[in-house]
Amino acid sequence: MDTLPSSLGKTAKAGNADDQPLYANRARIYPQKVAGPFRRFKWAVLILLLAIYYLAPWLRWDRGPGVPDQALLIDMPARRAYFFFIEIWPQEIYYLTGLLVLGAVGLFLVTSLFGRVWCAYTCPQTVWTDLFMWVESLVEGDRNARMRLDKGPWTAERIVKKVAIHSIWIVISALTGGAWVMYFTDAPTLVVNLLNFHVTNAVLFFIAMFTATTYLLAGIAREQLCVYMCPWPRFQAAMFDEETLTVTYEDWRGEPRGKHKAGDSWEDRGHCVDCLQCVNVCPTGIDIRDGSQLECIGCGLCIDACNRIMRRLDLPQGLVRLDTVSNQAARAEGKSAPFQLLRPRTLVYAGILSMVVALMVFGLTTRSTLDVNLLRDRNPLFVTLSDGTIRNGYTFKIINRLRADREFILTVSGIEGATLGVLGGSTGSRAAVFSTKPDRVETYRVFITAPRQSLTGESTDISFVLEEDAMENSENVIQDTVFMGPKK
Ligand code: SF4
Ligand code: SF4
Repeated sequence: MDTLPSSLGKTAKAGNADDQPLYANRARIYPQKVAGPFRRFKWAVLILLLAIYYLAPWLRWDRGPGVPDQALLIDMPARRAYFFFIEIWPQEIYYLTGLLVLGAVGLFLVTSLFGRVWCAYTCPQTVWTDLFMWVESLVEGDRNARMRLDKGPWTAERIVKKVAIHSIWIVISALTGGAWVMYFTDAPTLVVNLLNFHVTNAVLFFIAMFTATTYLLAGIAREQLCVYMCPWPRFQAAMFDEETLTVTYEDWRGEPRGKHKAGDSWEDRGHCVDCLQCVNVCPTGIDIRDGSQLECIGCGLCIDACNRIMRRLDLPQGLVRLDTVSNQAARAEGKSAPFQLLRPRTLVYAGILSMVVALMVFGLTTRSTLDVNLLRDRNPLFVTLSDGTIRNGYTFKIINRLRADREFILTVSGIEGATLGVLGGSTGSRAAVFSTKPDRVETYRVFITAPRQSLTGESTDISFVLEEDAMENSENVIQDTVFMGPKK
């Protein structure tokens, strides 16, 4: 695949490279409206994704009293993330890692099968750029009308239309920024606070930041982000092979191209009538007849445009088509190569994907409502008390994920005559009682004191047993650690 943007390629070819600027000036793109199955599919995905993005924060999920009822919420002050029935604590950040791995491997799999479908239909840059272009064509008209307007003088009509377009873009951008913040705070409360001008500077900052980035990226930068800034087109070629579906031009059938008049023979010429419809509809302004290019996001709009021309000319459709390199080579020889769904790379991606899904489902279905973190003091390793006994200190963290008070009894085993003490609580006993509040992480300092003669060496293996003091559904945790003492 060509790794240079065509604009750069054209600059380099135009003459002595020393005389040329490094980058060509941006040529504004005026994509033409097009109808067809790819365009309809693109609209359907756009509407679905925008509906999910703007409406998801309004979904409610009853989690009981005192807990947020927003179905999707990242509650930063409470350090909790809610996804419907799943509640993720900061200690379970590995679930987020799992989600990122799932997203990445899923993208690799889809790309190796169907090419740049992410770029074409689901990337936020594509979705919002498409929406902004739709606004533009609604206000200014189709390609030719927009080009005429931009070439003409600054009349009142032009000023009014430009102001209208940029105002609508800013409103959409502000709604986008506002919706983003709603994933981090209660959506209805945020709207009420915004209407009452009663929001924090942090909220205003994030809304302003996402408003500005949406406006700049979808309204101004557009295809330049894909061509010059996004790393994904650069390394997605590693997922492509001869069986990957890409948008291709059948040059063996289209060339030699040329204008065609009604009644002219199709003998000794190709089916491409050089109408440039495939170029005019392209959102990145390229000519698919030049072959695979980094700028091609694989949206298929040129397929819709060319098929319309082929239908008009009563020629077979698919001069520009979604196809594999293998099938293209076979079709040029009058044969066909069926699409290969199962290939070594797709099987590897599917295998990794299934493994990560299975691990996450297992982790979520077997997760405990109780977690214990134990940290032994390193400095000092031990203390010798005035009566000759040895004392070690430990920090206990009990994570109670239930929305109820819980009581636990802590005992220690492994050293004869060892006693337990808790900072601010009981000392010298065989067991300690801990009470934890609902939905909280509680921290305790625990000291174990043992007679020197009970120690088996410099380090003695011991176990803490935390038993829930409840009749039913109790959870017990055993934590193995060591007790340090002086050299024998
Ligand atoms: S060349 Fe075709 S598939 Fe590629 S971006 Fe342009 S219109 Fe979309
Ligand atoms: S739309 Fe089809 S016929 Fe027209 S220039 Fe493109 S490839 Fe050729």
